[in-house]
Amino acid sequence: MFSRYGTFDFLQKGIYDYIMIKIDSTIIEKAVYNLCLQANTCYDECLYNILLKKLNAAVSSDDKFKYSNILKNIKLAFDSKRPLCQDCGQVVVFVKYGCECICDKPVNEIINAAVEKAYTENCFRMSVVKNAIFERINTNTNTPALIYTDIVAGSEISIDLMIKGAGSENCSALKMFKPSAQKEDIYEFIKETIIAAGEKSCPPMTIGIGIGGTMEYAALLSKKSFFHRQNTEEFNFVKGLRDYLKTDESNILDIYLMTTSTHIACLPVAITINCHSTRHASATILQNEVKYSSAFYGYNDIAVSDGNFKEVFCSDAQMIRSLKNGENILLTGEIYTARDAAHKKFKDYFEKNGKLPLDFNNKIIFYAGPCPATEDEIIGPVGPTTSFRMDEYCELMYSQGLLATIGKGERSLHSQNIINKYKGKYFTAQGGVACLLSKCVKTSEIIAFGELGTEAVRKLYVQKLPLKVVI
Ligand code: SF4
Repeated sequence: MFSRYGTFDFLQKGIYDYIMIKIDSTIIEKAVYNLCLQANTCYDECLYNILLKKLNAAVSSDDKFKYSNILKNIKLAFDSKRPLCQDCGQVVVFVKYGCECICDKPVNEIINAAVEKAYTENCFRMSVVKNAIFERINTNTNTPALIYTDIVAGSEISIDLMIKGAGSENCSALKMFKPSAQKEDIYEFIKETIIAAGEKSCPPMTIGIGIGGTMEYAALLSKKSFFHRQNTEEFNFVKGLRDYLKTDESNILDIYLMTTSTHIACLPVAITINCHSTRHASATILQNEVKYSSAFYGYNDIAVSDGNFKEVFCSDAQMIRSLKNGENILLTGEIYTARDAAHKKFKDYFEKNGKLPLDFNNKIIFYAGPCPATEDEIIGPVGPTTSFRMDEYCELMYSQGLLATIGKGERSLHSQNIINKYKGKYFTAQGGVACLLSKCVKTSEIIAFGELGTEAVRKLYVQKLPLKVVI
């Protein structure tokens, strides 16, 4: 009888069993589940120590406040087993699959099942839509994960997993250089990308650089670089880059580089921008034993540094309109969450009915999509999303009496003019400290578009939410 093992089924199957190491799919699933938990809730030791140094070296009260918040948030996330940031990202997985291993299920199927389970059971935010252009509907499973598998020699399966948030990912860049390009040309491109990323990327950021291969391969290397041990040449290249960046280095936590061969006519350079919430975890499976690496549990209790804040109430529109750029405030009162999908619905409704579906006169919108709450929480971890994506709705919203918006990053010049024209305000909240900010929320209620999940419109009562007046 013919089968996958050939004619001599009983004999061939025996040989096959002898040379292959059987890996139980449940072992891989459990490992990926744990890596999702670890990456979302535990912070990298090396980056943690860099943050501590930055806090100790901070001079301005704004910087002290920023770094102490980040460190406090790390401890809070770890202690409560809640995600460091409300954007629990798309899961990127690099698998090195030993060719002597055989598993009872396809590895992609196992990984996706594990991601779905980890995100659902732990109330992490689902952030993946079905299709980028034709069907932007949340899959509500945070899958598919982006899985890259290399078949390698041996009987081990190693898994490197990263959680990639979109605020920083949208600041990433790629450039095809001429082979004659100098090191300084590449440094300048990296510098421009870092400067353009600014506050949108929740700095201080980590930079992954991939050089070589083809366009898509360089991009892949820029992600893999976070797990790569640099050789001497790569190390020296990064050292030179740090010297070149000089003053812009304060916004950087760490720089990673991975290089490879390329075509004689090519020199592709890709940069992955990652926020301070750089989240990753790794594991190796050998003989059905799982070894986890990169876990660190020694976080200190950091006291949040006092900033120079003015107390402001949402009900006092006159006072809010009189705030000056650069002032730090602690906001108390009712605000409303709405982000991309809700704003699109506002616009569609307005075009049909000549008014907004909700009255936003003298109200404040927080561009935010929280994690689902656990039984013990009022709201899950919550923080600002990148504001510039909502720029196209600025005229509509502020012309209808909106008092202020809260988000992160810069607004377009056009939006700045609109906000000034309607005497509105724009505040920024610190990105990536979602566990900490969720403690400012005292009540939360979905008031519209519940079907949008994290993107639904929520009415929140916040107490002393720390913000900066930017416009
Ligand atoms: S820290 Fe900022 S950029 Fe990073 S995932 Fe969170 S919101 Fe996105």
